[in-house]
Amino acid sequence: MNPVTREGWIEVICGGMFSGKSEELIRRIRRARIARQNVAVFKPAVDTRYRPEAVTSHNGIQTDAMMLEKATQIWEKISPEINVVAIDEVQFFEDEVVTVAQTLADRGIRVICAGLDQDFRGVPFGPTPTLMAVAEYVTKLQAICVRCGGSASRTQRLLNGRAAGTDGPVIQVGASEQYEARCRHCHEVAV
Ligand code: ADP
Ligand code: ZN
Repeated sequence: MNPVTREGWIEVICGGMFSGKSEELIRRIRRARIARQNVAVFKPAVDTRYRPEAVTSHNGIQTDAMMLEKATQIWEKISPEINVVAIDEVQFFEDEVVTVAQTLADRGIRVICAGLDQDFRGVPFGPTPTLMAVAEYVTKLQAICVRCGGSASRTQRLLNGRAAGTDGPVIQVGASEQYEARCRHCHEVAV
């Protein structure tokens, strides 16, 4: 065993909508602050649900966050005393977020990224799969399937109450009635 523990790594929290990614991210942020770590929290400007300047869970808990147009803006927003960088909705950033996360971790910062691993079609979403590959720790959360009560790994998109097809935009942050948690077997994509 190597007795030297070096600081700096990447954690990914992934899963479908309602799986508790934001809840788990907020929990880790709270515990880091209890440990007197200096935490900087970021989210992409695209997610305007609830309060724009906060990470918010569907269970109502929230913590303040800085909004970014691009992941590279993190370099302007962090000071030398920051030990932990938390990023929610990481799937909405460009691939350059992977380089930013790697550089932060190489410099001794604990990087915690939460985001969707699949889009509403079940296709790997943006930079999340690459982040999962390069991360030291990956936590994959499951929601509850609203159809069968099983473990839900997917996000069902509904348009006017019916399964959405593949032709709509992948990114449509919005009301909960448009998206629901479903398992592999209950998940539908219209053709
Ligand atoms: P995510 O960030 O993954 O979308 P959130 O942290 O915002 O998840 O929300 C998780 C909370 O959503 C749960 O604690 C629960 O209160 C609520 N919730 C609503 N619908 C479901 C569902 N189908 N399965 C699990 N949790 C759900
Ligand atoms: Zn199901």
